[in-house]
Amino acid sequence: MPFKSSQPDIKLPRDITIWKWLFDFPHSPLNSISPSQVAGFTNASTLERISYSAVKTHTIHLSTALVKHYNLTKGDVVALFSPNTIWYPVAMLGVTRVAGIVSGASPAYNVEEMTYALKTSRARFLMTVPGSMKVARAAAEKAGIKRENVFLLEGEMQGYTTMKELLELGRKEGKGGQVEPYELVKSKKETNFNLCAFLSFSSGTTGLPKAVMIAHQNVIAQCLQIQQITPSSHKKILAVLPSFHITGLVHALHLPILLNAEVYMLPAFTMKSMLNTVVKFQIGELLLVPPILIRMVRDPIVKEYDLSCITRFSSGAAPLSAEILKDLEVAFPKTGFKQGYGMTESCSCITAHPPEKYSYKYAHMVGSICASTEVKILNDDGKELGIGEPGELLAKGPQIVMGYLNNEEATKHTFDKDGFLHTGDQAMIDADGMVTITDRIKEMIKVKGIGVAPAELEDLLLGHPEVEDCAVLGIEDEYSGEKPKAFIVLKKNGDEEGKGRVLLSYVREKKVRHKWLKEVEFVEVIPKSASGKILRRLLKGQGKRV
Ligand code: AMP
Repeated sequence: MPFKSSQPDIKLPRDITIWKWLFDFPHSPLNSISPSQVAGFTNASTLERISYSAVKTHTIHLSTALVKHYNLTKGDVVALFSPNTIWYPVAMLGVTRVAGIVSGASPAYNVEEMTYALKTSRARFLMTVPGSMKVARAAAEKAGIKRENVFLLEGEMQGYTTMKELLELGRKEGKGGQVEPYELVKSKKETNFNLCAFLSFSSGTTGLPKAVMIAHQNVIAQCLQIQQITPSSHKKILAVLPSFHITGLVHALHLPILLNAEVYMLPAFTMKSMLNTVVKFQIGELLLVPPILIRMVRDPIVKEYDLSCITRFSSGAAPLSAEILKDLEVAFPKTGFKQGYGMTESCSCITAHPPEKYSYKYAHMVGSICASTEVKILNDDGKELGIGEPGELLAKGPQIVMGYLNNEEATKHTFDKDGFLHTGDQAMIDADGMVTITDRIKEMIKVKGIGVAPAELEDLLLGHPEVEDCAVLGIEDEYSGEKPKAFIVLKKNGDEEGKGRVLLSYVREKKVRHKWLKEVEFVEVIPKSASGKILRRLLKGQGKRV
């Protein structure tokens, strides 16, 4: 029998899109709040602000402009290639309002990576910022996106339509000319469960990054699940996590509208800009990833600030060591602590700390099962395990996504016939319903909370003339959590040191920073199973390091 959540089930509306649910539904949060009390998105450095009422109006104008002037239709993909900006959620909600699909990409991608993302998601439109335009333009050209379909979220550049111009185009259509939000066609058995809203990239349990199809229902369900365990005092949210990652997408762009909480966005992360923002706006709860939490206890700059406003730290996206947790408690003795655990394929959290467990006593655990969610722990033979027994965690619930775009095989491999998602994480659950992640079974490497697919780096390295065979796996790194390391079988032995340096810079030239190799090790052979699968665990601690 699966483990069940001890929370009351969420009441999930079945035939409604995210936009309608947030802005135009009898129970929508904005309906019960006086206009002066409506929160919004604030740029923490320029103080430019868009209230949620303005987000509603802007998104109506944006979707009207896109549909009427650019012929955007249901299922068209709009890629967002930008650092965090207050215009990001406007773009997101404007597109999904009319059943377009948003695909977020890391603003650090190079041309090849961005081209892969655009082609895999089959994007028709691209929205970016001036600083990313060089890469965006080249990738759009390679992926066949017309120049007039490339827009600027903010700023100006000759030859490109800006967000403000799009909003003006929509506004000019007048009250009667606005395009209606997409309504689900019930006669076709369409529900918010099979209407895709987002495509986010993840390597899942194995292989290359894949486009994860996230439905309107998944986002609505996750917001309701988290709202249920969020104290009503949570009214200020710091958005330092990237908007393209599922954690930022849910917790900093959608959930705050439901909670009517103010979001403070940092366009570029530095410890200084983050700490200034925390102090200036007296932010109580900080949702961070382990590498930033490590800096909260190691970086001397922290001592320069009066951070007595912080009441709680919240962590997710990657494991946090017991040592850092201890240091955090010592450095901030008056704070509480909570974690969320999940993956892109679960639209963020499968488990999270409920308020009664916001304490360092439970900090090494990832919380209890979210509402309306079931969890199974399986051993290697697929047998269900009981309390205190570690095994692979599987999860089923309304936040579990539809599958991978155009990749039935990976979908079948990851989502079983009963609707359970294979997480590739090893976990155990205690008698109190609290979950502990004990290991990661899958290949994925987590660098600063962002997933890196070993297969992507192996593909690249195999294309190098010196490389006969290779395998990549994650090794510990003090600041990033993990970093990729390559095990290489050379075509011709000799000058390992020189060849190691060549391979390190080869990856640097071709890939975004968080995918760079920490080190290279030369081995005689890559251990493989009879079916040719790399036996990564056997590689640890072998060979000669460069
Ligand atoms: P992503 O799809 O990028 O969100 O990566 C999901 C993976 O990150 C999970 O399958 C875990 O391996 C890891 N992860 C996420 N949250 C946590 C957490 N709180 N503790 C440990 N690992 C985590």
